[in-house]
Amino acid sequence: MSATGVKICDVEEADKEDVDKAVEAARAAAQRGSPWRRMDASSRGRMLHQLADLMERDRLLLATLETLDTGKPFLQSFFIDLDGSIKTLRYYAGWADKIQGKSLPVDESFVCLTKHEPVGVCGAIIPWNFPLLMLTWKLAPALSCGNTVVIKPAEQTPLTALHIGSLIKEVGFPPGVVNIVPGFGPTAGAAIASHMDIDKVAFTGSTEVGQLIKEAAAKSNLKRVTLELGGKNPCIVFADCDLQMAVKETQKGAFYNQGQCCTAASRVFVEESIYEEFVRCSVENAKKIVIGDPLDPQTSQGPQIDHQQFVKIMDLIESGKKEGARLEYGGTAVGEKNLFIQPTIFSGVKDHMRIAKEEVFGPVQCILSFKSQQEVIERANSSQYGLVSAIFTTSMDRALSVSASLETGTVWINCYNALHTQAPFGGYKMSGNGRELGEYALAEYTEVKAVTIKLSETL
Ligand code: NAD
Repeated sequence: MSATGVKICDVEEADKEDVDKAVEAARAAAQRGSPWRRMDASSRGRMLHQLADLMERDRLLLATLETLDTGKPFLQSFFIDLDGSIKTLRYYAGWADKIQGKSLPVDESFVCLTKHEPVGVCGAIIPWNFPLLMLTWKLAPALSCGNTVVIKPAEQTPLTALHIGSLIKEVGFPPGVVNIVPGFGPTAGAAIASHMDIDKVAFTGSTEVGQLIKEAAAKSNLKRVTLELGGKNPCIVFADCDLQMAVKETQKGAFYNQGQCCTAASRVFVEESIYEEFVRCSVENAKKIVIGDPLDPQTSQGPQIDHQQFVKIMDLIESGKKEGARLEYGGTAVGEKNLFIQPTIFSGVKDHMRIAKEEVFGPVQCILSFKSQQEVIERANSSQYGLVSAIFTTSMDRALSVSASLETGTVWINCYNALHTQAPFGGYKMSGNGRELGEYALAEYTEVKAVTIKLSETL
């Protein structure tokens, strides 16, 4: 569906039987002695580089498809999503022949070596907010480590994944190494989570579905599970910060991708003495946002992903008004038939309000005030989530001691959404299990084997 609700195209729907076929192909390709398993690690890396080359060649097409499918502004697709996806492939291409074990100093006359082997067949269930980026975050480390994959894109956004399928063929990956099954969650997604012949599943999406995935994994074959789920991410803005920078970064965090980010800056705590000034500047800054056709390069905010999400966001905005938060800006839909929502700013938000507790996944910024460092740390941590947080201050001493107290997988200091392929990403608490990106992700896609040798002569 396009931004204006017009059908783009029809896509074949994969069901449980298709997942079974895909797993069979992936299992055959993962067998010892198969072309993929026999391939040199450096050749695997080269294939990942070739896939990155083809994505660079088709960058305009892929960015256009991503914008048509998601409604995200074209320049963001072209520069952020494509750049991040290509960099991820190249980063893990480089790792392919550097995944190595250790020689361990064990007791008595033994030698112990560790080997890092592929896990086997890896399932990947992808969300609709960053379809291509989330796909490459899973595909690249899985292939780099020598696994085979079965990928289910989100039902709302299958188009770029399907084009990647054609690029995989063009590169010449052996048949069965990569399988893409566009389908719905409760059918194709659930079939992956509960499959007896999938060894690991990586999921990004809602916490509720994350719980279902883990349950299905436990009840089937105890497959390994990594989860990247929701967040209610706190930003702490101290009075000694660079105010204009903090306003820009926190707002980028709140409104980027129409607010549809697990990293959304959804609780902005501002020190009392600069609170009013911060709110005033945030409103001024929000006025610069241009809502419109996502294919127009002037546009900085497109439509929400679908009607269901639109209704959920509007309901949460209404709850904010009813529960007594002050609506400083926005708060209404734009146009009658479309899925555009004005960037919305609430001040006077209290911790107990729904907008301060629930993931909105829309363009809504909640600004809260705080008096002391100890108080704000406790309030920031009092959430079931623990994905990311941010601190704005000119004191590095304070930034480092506050960052040590925050229960989140990522802490950004004087910046926001500063994601890098080389740095691990993942959540504490109910924001997820395991880490994507960086060297840390390799551990999620390998089994470690200890090979112990008894020596006949004492060393
Ligand atoms: P979702 O969790 O339902 O969907 C994410 C993926 O999981 C999709 O591919 C979907 O098909 C699949 N899925 C759904 N049900 C499944 C099941 N029973 N078994 C296996 N796979 C299943 O997310 P949604 O309903 O599209 O969005 C709802 C909320 O989820 C959003 O409002 C937002 O809060 C959150 N969300 C978070 C992220 C993130 O990046 N962490 C991404 C998308 C949505």
